[in-house]
Amino acid sequence: MRYLEKFKLEDLRKLKYDVVIIGTGIAGLYTALCIDERYKILLMSKDTIETTNTYLAQGGIATAVDNNDKDIFYEDTVKAGTYHNDIIAAKVLIDDSFENTQQLINLGISFDTDEEGNIEYIKEGGHSRKRILHSKDATGREIIETLDKRINEKKNVTVLENTYAIDVLTTENTCIGVLIKEDKGLSAALSKTTVIATGGLGQVYKQTTNSRVATGDGLAIAHRAGAKLLDMEFVQFHPTALYDPKREDVFLISEAVRGEGAILRNHKGEPFMTKYHELRDLAPRDVVSKSIATELIIEKQEHVFLDITHRDKDFIKKRFPNIFTHCLERGIDISKEYIPVNPVQHYIMGGIRTDTSGRTNINNLFAAGEVACTGVHGANRLASNSLLEGLVFAKRVAKEINCITPKIKRKHVKIECDLKNKEMKDDEFVEAREKIREVMKKHVFILRKEKGLQKALKIIKKVKQKFSNAKSRGVEDYTTMNMIAITEIIIESALKRTKSLGAHVLVANKKE
Ligand SMILES: Cc1cc2nc3c(=O)[nH]c(=O)nc-3n(C[C@H](O)[C@H](O)[C@H](O)COP(=O)(O)OP(=O)(O)OC[C@H]3O[C@@H](n4cnc5c(N)ncnc54)[C@H](O)[C@@H]3O)c2cc1C
Repeated sequence: MRYLEKFKLEDLRKLKYDVVIIGTGIAGLYTALCIDERYKILLMSKDTIETTNTYLAQGGIATAVDNNDKDIFYEDTVKAGTYHNDIIAAKVLIDDSFENTQQLINLGISFDTDEEGNIEYIKEGGHSRKRILHSKDATGREIIETLDKRINEKKNVTVLENTYAIDVLTTENTCIGVLIKEDKGLSAALSKTTVIATGGLGQVYKQTTNSRVATGDGLAIAHRAGAKLLDMEFVQFHPTALYDPKREDVFLISEAVRGEGAILRNHKGEPFMTKYHELRDLAPRDVVSKSIATELIIEKQEHVFLDITHRDKDFIKKRFPNIFTHCLERGIDISKEYIPVNPVQHYIMGGIRTDTSGRTNINNLFAAGEVACTGVHGANRLASNSLLEGLVFAKRVAKEINCITPKIKRKHVKIECDLKNKEMKDDEFVEAREKIREVMKKHVFILRKEKGLQKALKIIKKVKQKFSNAKSRGVEDYTTMNMIAITEIIIESALKRTKSLGAHVLVANKKE
């Protein structure tokens, strides 16, 4: 299926811009801020501007602190990525890190400082030194609120909230804009260049730290248009979400808590990470999640504990005000009690294949942020490298757009999609989404088995078959179709990788 909707381009209301950016997370906003003011930009978000994964980021944003740190930071990044990283892109990430984090400060973002007023760098898992900038434990909120203010000052940028990108419009392998759904109905946002900055896909899993907007739309949109996706089997699971079986929403306990000395303990109270890795609780995420998953099987439990009780209460309250308050609201005083935690879906290392300027294999179509696969993260992302990737490559996308936009002539083409849609019953889309989320949690989680993956693929293919000509009645239905498309890709990629690597961990079938 090339498009999710029936439409005739010539009959649609048309909005004309130089650049259309789908997504208002760090990647979308920073791209817009770095594009020349002479270009008319449309920035769109399917929800409010703030409803993003970026807003939820707690820990911080990594940067090379000085020239001497570049080689060490690079080594930490590729070691965490199990050396599956794109070497050139990883070097770019680190070389451009300081300049871009400085630009964030120039834009007004306030990072925590020490008593002398110097930036206070902190440490997280897999980093061999302190190099993470942070705003208490709500770094993403500070970033989004500040970038949003700067965007509001730009006369060349129009922001459309509650506007859903259904598909990118293409002709002869060239992108000419986006098919969008607003309250008013379908429209075409025509552009010379288009940037997909739609973030991750966490909502395809039953348990995720991700925002409700993270349903993998951009990945499915790109795939339908013929853009290449890469490394989709590498899904990151965060080791420490607050365990609370009574609640559907997931609250993250930032890795920075372990950075400040918190220790993972099993139900016997043992600090079990000593058994699994020399860096113990600060080992890379894939290692910690896998170790917890193994410990849960050994102990036949659903969660382990995170212990920060040895730190002073005032320090904890000052350093982690949100985490402290949130846990207290749920009846846990983290300065006195262990925090029950379990691993949940958190991030996707794979995505739309781009080069170091964010170019996809479709002309005039770019991707930036979590939705893109520059290859910097390899098989497992190093903590706090995601915001940095969004920042560094958004700037490079903007640079490329500034350079090519004057040379692009608009194409006046006829595009038409005539679907023979099948009416579905009211609940069928909802049921399909729930089924997908269950299947991904059960069979495509941390410890994967070939048989489980095959079972999952069979189920997804059946769902796909059922919805092959389904009539989508709105945003929730388009989203379901996107979820079906990308889960099939994740599972197929996982089945193709027959040996464990980084976050893709295969275990023997007989343990099932
Ligand atoms: C709880 C949590 C904590 C995290 N902590 C950290 C951290 O400390 N450090 C770090 O580096 N990383 C962290 N991460 C990861 C990081 O926050 C994300 O990877 C990053 O912010 C993604 O940014 P983005 O701009 O690519 O996407 P997002 O910030 O997710 O923005 C996506 C945008 O795309 C829009 N969109 C999606 N689909 C459509 C559509 N069909 N039509 C229109 N708009 C659409 C959304 O509305 C949204 O505006 C964390 C993630 C989570 C969930």
